[in-house]
Amino acid sequence: MSIQEYFVSLFKGMHSLVKGMQVTGRELVTKKVTEQYPENRDTLHIPERFRATLQFIYDENGRHKCIGCRSCERACPNGTIHIDTRMVDLPNGKKKMKLDKYIYDLGSCTFCSLCVQSCPTSAIEFSNDFEQAVFRRESLVKQLNYLPEKDDEPAPAPAQPAEAPAKAAQPDEATVAKPAAQAQPAKSQDNQENKE
Ligand code: SF4
Ligand code: SF4
Repeated sequence: MSIQEYFVSLFKGMHSLVKGMQVTGRELVTKKVTEQYPENRDTLHIPERFRATLQFIYDENGRHKCIGCRSCERACPNGTIHIDTRMVDLPNGKKKMKLDKYIYDLGSCTFCSLCVQSCPTSAIEFSNDFEQAVFRRESLVKQLNYLPEKDDEPAPAPAQPAEAPAKAAQPDEATVAKPAAQAQPAKSQDNQENKE
């Protein structure tokens, strides 16, 4: 190394050192922001798009839009999602595939959101609820369809035949009512006799 090269190298080193110290000095006087967590839990601002955990979107009637198509399961690169489906009989005699269990393992999720993007019915989304710490690894495996399926309730179909017997019971009420109606004049006759 010549004398000239030595001084050029020394100058570059000094220039780099000054640049670094400028950044350090700027951060030294910048106002500090310290989150007092968990004391500030009520006022803590978490960005809406922060991906904390996958969840179902339920409407006001407690229904979700998952049709069990498994598109999200196939899109997931590491097998985080497991879907069980079952066939159900519809009132019109046809069969329909429905979601049975939607299992999601938060512990292996990479939050890539490919599952959300591949869903044809927009049934799932990411929650920004960041407090997901648990003590056991198994607790990170969740069943997302935790509410009962409203369509599975037997009430709508049996309700129609149940009305027919109620109508059939009306004549019985009439027959029961007739003696009562006949009894009224007797009472009125008694009353008249009592008055006389
Ligand atoms: S975010 Fe990515 S890794 Fe997580 S469940 Fe969806 S597709 Fe799988
Ligand atoms: S969440 Fe969406 S993509 Fe996944 S099974 Fe349900 S409807 Fe299909």
